[in-house]
Amino acid sequence: MSNEHTKMVIGIDDTDSREGMCTTYLCALLRDELSSFAKAVSDPMLVRLNPTIPYKTRGNASVALLVECREPEKVMEHVTRRVATMSCLDNENTNPGVVFITDEQFGTVRPDLSEFFRRAVRDVITIDEAKEMALKLCLRFQVFKNGRGLIGALSACGAMLDPEWDHTYEYLAYRVKDSWGTPRSVDDDSLFKADRQTYPDTWDTVDLFNDMVVCVPHSADPVLYGIRGKDRSSVEKAASFVRCEPVERACTFRTNQGTDMHLLPAGGISEITGMHSYILEGQVCSMPATIRGGHTIFSLQDAEGQKIDCAAFEPTKNFRELVRQLIPGDRVIVYGSVTERTVNIEKIKIIGLASKYEVLNPLCPCCGKRMKSAGSGQGYRCRKCNTKSMTTQSKEVKRAVLPGFYEVPPCARRHLAKQLLRFGKEDVPVFPSR
Ligand SMILES: [Zn+2]
Repeated sequence: MSNEHTKMVIGIDDTDSREGMCTTYLCALLRDELSSFAKAVSDPMLVRLNPTIPYKTRGNASVALLVECREPEKVMEHVTRRVATMSCLDNENTNPGVVFITDEQFGTVRPDLSEFFRRAVRDVITIDEAKEMALKLCLRFQVFKNGRGLIGALSACGAMLDPEWDHTYEYLAYRVKDSWGTPRSVDDDSLFKADRQTYPDTWDTVDLFNDMVVCVPHSADPVLYGIRGKDRSSVEKAASFVRCEPVERACTFRTNQGTDMHLLPAGGISEITGMHSYILEGQVCSMPATIRGGHTIFSLQDAEGQKIDCAAFEPTKNFRELVRQLIPGDRVIVYGSVTERTVNIEKIKIIGLASKYEVLNPLCPCCGKRMKSAGSGQGYRCRKCNTKSMTTQSKEVKRAVLPGFYEVPPCARRHLAKQLLRFGKEDVPVFPSR
């Protein structure tokens, strides 16, 4: 065995299920377990892929580690064994994949894998395509069951090897194993304090308008809470204010969350296909209607006259009140994922407001008194002098909404959706020490 250190990227995906485990936890555990014979040399990577993919478990997340070690075979063996033993393999939707890339391969695989990463966030990739890619690049990989996790594992490796994308951070605290599946104990006041002390460098910890904690999940997985923000120091500072049950371990990830990486600019509605996410400009062409379940929907028309439904679903809470103020003729740009020919609005930019009129009964041309309706389709009549009129009057009324950029509240935020406060603050990360 040589004494040389070698670097290696390890990508892992799809070890979790709705019932337990979490790929990010496995990553944090591996980083700690490997520390005796491999050193993590950059922040672990947490990558969110296309949010419309139906096979995803919870958040469609995959992870990657960049380590430096003397014995890569030993690292690969340990990781493969842990993925095999800790994944929820009994669950039909859990199909793990693991990829190992050694430093002599970094340069040759980087262009293909960074492209693969971007496609996996925006597009739909098949398991066969992922297998072809891994074989073409001569990568060491291991798949379990149908191997769907290979898609995310390759993507996370691509993210780790490619510095040219906007990123944010998330600090994840994990519960001790005995607590998994039981109610979480995190002090709400301490989370509001953490938010006050670090916002806007951190975000989506709490939802002030809806008076809700949003950074504590309710599923059976090991995550206790997650703090999202612009850099490692900000999320770790916020975490220092949190009072909670015992934490088994914590890990700060670099992520593509809050970057809008999933969005494609759409030139028109004819370009739109399901299971993709878009930025689309158009004109409101129906009054927003609130349907059963509390979802508010309006129709949007593009320059070619094509139409598509746009929805502010019930979980977007107060955002729906804004959407209900729209009227036909308003010009907007919607940001969101498309499923079943409906845009699930994450953000909306109102760029032009139509004039809004109120229809009034006319004033009597003879005596000036406001006339009354004479019955359906029969015009108006003056009660005082009996004059009749068929014409109505209309008056422009002030709009209750202003042009501007609006977003769903933190409690309804999609992982990949960029917060308005991040616009203009995107940064290009620097690839870690090489
Ligand atoms: Zn009159």
